[in-house]
Formats: sequence, structure tokens, C-alpha cells
Amino acid sequence: MQTEVLIIGGGPAGLMAAIYLARFRRDVAIVDSGASRAALIPRSHNLPGFPDGIPGRELLARMQQQVIELGVPVIRGSVSSLERHEVGLLASHAAGAITAQRVILATGIVDKQMPLPEWVDAVRRGELRYCPVCDAFEAIGRRIAVIGPLSHAAGKALFMRSYSADVSLVPIDDANDDALRQKLSDAAVRVTPKLDALRRQGDGIEAVLVDGSCEQFEIVYPAMGAAVRSDLAMQLGASHTPDGFLKVDDKQRSDIDHLYGIGDVVTDLHQISVAFGHAAVAACHAHHSLPMRYA
Ligand SMILES: Cc1cc2nc3c(=O)[nH]c(=O)nc-3n(C[C@H](O)[C@H](O)[C@H](O)COP(=O)(O)OP(=O)(O)OC[C@H]3O[C@@H](n4cnc5c(N)ncnc54)[C@H](O)[C@@H]3O)c2cc1C
Repeated sequence: MQTEVLIIGGGPAGLMAAIYLARFRRDVAIVDSGASRAALIPRSHNLPGFPDGIPGRELLARMQQQVIELGVPVIRGSVSSLERHEVGLLASHAAGAITAQRVILATGIVDKQMPLPEWVDAVRRGELRYCPVCDAFEAIGRRIAVIGPLSHAAGKALFMRSYSADVSLVPIDDANDDALRQKLSDAAVRVTPKLDALRRQGDGIEAVLVDGSCEQFEIVYPAMGAAVRSDLAMQLGASHTPDGFLKVDDKQRSDIDHLYGIGDVVTDLHQISVAFGHAAVAACHAHHSLPMRYA
């Protein structure tokens, strides 16, 4: 298969790029492995135009419908490799290969999970949350825990103090950073003993601590970090941050010819609105970088 632009990843970033490019009358295709973080959102309340919020799955379904109505082929599968090719880049997936003059990587991230077997159900019920920027507003006044390595969890715990007076940091390590502990104490963030185990309990999550005590929380925000799905670009030698985010310029171009990056894979501000903005910029630049095709 050949296309002018191939989009790898069909989350909000990739779908938005496809909408722009299809409306620029470009040949565009998407390959998507179907694991968008947006599908986990029980109901997003920070997207403009949805005053009552919208579930992540519904947003994706609406965008998929828009893309299909524009005639964009969506191939279900995972791109396993990207190589340089005389026309641009060549992407391989289980059902074949696609050559493209431009490739937009929109593969996102995967959150590192906590040891809570029923975590998907807990996310659905709003007990386990991943995005304070998105939904701390819906946690006002609740009993909240932030769980993770002390140094990583501290920022999130301090952020949450604007929303609740009852914020605990449950560390998963033995870090002994006195200055950080003092800062947390000054902000009235309680640091508990280290975490031993987690389980669903009633309408919340119970943390079992190494001293044998148990703490019940209404809402838990993990601060465990994430794996960035930038490996396809890294195989080509693309520059990336120490955390694995693909480095891009102000047009969303990586330093690999013909390869763009958008959405969560290029930023630690994991927001749909940010992904949309990246998508618009990359799609406009990719369109103008290709030869015009007059009607
Ligand atoms: C619980 C939760 C709640 C959230 N709430 C909000 C909110 O209210 N508001 C907000 O703005 N943001 C929210 N977010 C963040 C938001 O979901 C992400 O910022 C957004 O999904 C990023 O879009 P993306 O397209 O970059 O990545 P994703 O949505 O993760 O999509 C990436 C896609 O690429 C595919 N893919 C990966 N590798 C390959 C490959 N090799 N080949 C083919 N396909 C591949 C994946 O299967 C996936 O479909 C929330 C996140 C979570 C987890």
C-alpha cells in the first residue's frame, strides 16, 4: 500500500491529524492498535463544547466516524517497524507494508500500573485517576492519596492540595529527602509509611502499609510514570528526552526526515487539547511540504 501520509496511532491526536489531512484532500491512512488512553476516560469534563462532559470512548467513536466518513482507511493492527525508503518511510505491520511520503507518529504512552488487580474497574468508577490536570476539579474536598516514588509523587500531591485539605502521599520507596518531606509537611500533605499492598474496599481503595496499618481513600492518583511508545522513532535514531519523549520542533517535526510526532508521545502535558493542537500543526505542515495536487 502507498499513501501520502501515514498516521500511526488512532487516539485523539492521530484521528485529529487524519481529519485535517483528509480535508486537505490528501491520501491518508491510519494504522491503530486500539489501546488509546482516551478509552479509559470515564467522562472528561475539560473538553470545550461538552458542558456535561463526554466519556472518552464516545469521543473516540465520534472522531472515528468522522474519519471514516471522510474516506480515511483505518487499519487495525500494530506497526512493528519503520524504515527509511526512497519515497519517504516504510512502515511494516502484520498484514503488510505501507510506504508513505510523510509519517505522523501518534502512539501515545502507557501508564505504569500499580499492584491493584481490578484497576480498570477502579478507573471506570473514578476511584483511580491518572490526570489531576483533567479531573482534580471533580475531586474537590475528597479524601485523596497520591501513590508513587516520593520524589515523583510530591508534585502531584502538592497540586492536589488546591482541591482538598485531605491529601496523603503514600510512598512506594524509602527515599529520605528531608527538604521535600518538610515542603510536604508545610503544605499539610501527610506522608504515610511505605505502601505494601492495595485493594478495592467499599467505595474506595484501601492501602495496606508496611507497618501493618490500613488507610482508606476515596480517590487515588498514581504517580508511577509511564512508558513512552516512541520506539519506532528511536529505531530510526530520532532524538528523544531521557524519559523517552520524541523530540520535535515547533512544526512537530522530529529530526528524522519525513517523520512528525504529536500527542502524548512528544509531551508530558498529556491533554487531548494539546494533542489536537499538535495534530493541526503537523497536518498543516505536512500538507504544505508535499507537492500540490490541483483540482
Ligand atoms: C483515566 C484517564 C483520564 C483522562 N482524562 C482526560 C481528560 O479528561 N481530558 C484530557 O484532555 N485528557 C485526559 N486524559 C489524557 C488523554 O487520554 C491523553 O492525553 C490522550 O489520549 C492522548 O492522545 P494520543 O492520541 O496522543 O494517545 P492515545 O490516546 O494513547 O492514542 C495512541 C494510539 O496509538 C496506538 N498505537 C500505539 N503504538 C502503536 C503502533 N506501534 N502501531 C499502531 N498503533 C499504535 C494505540 O493503540 C492508541 O490507540 C486522561 C487519561 C487517562 C488515562
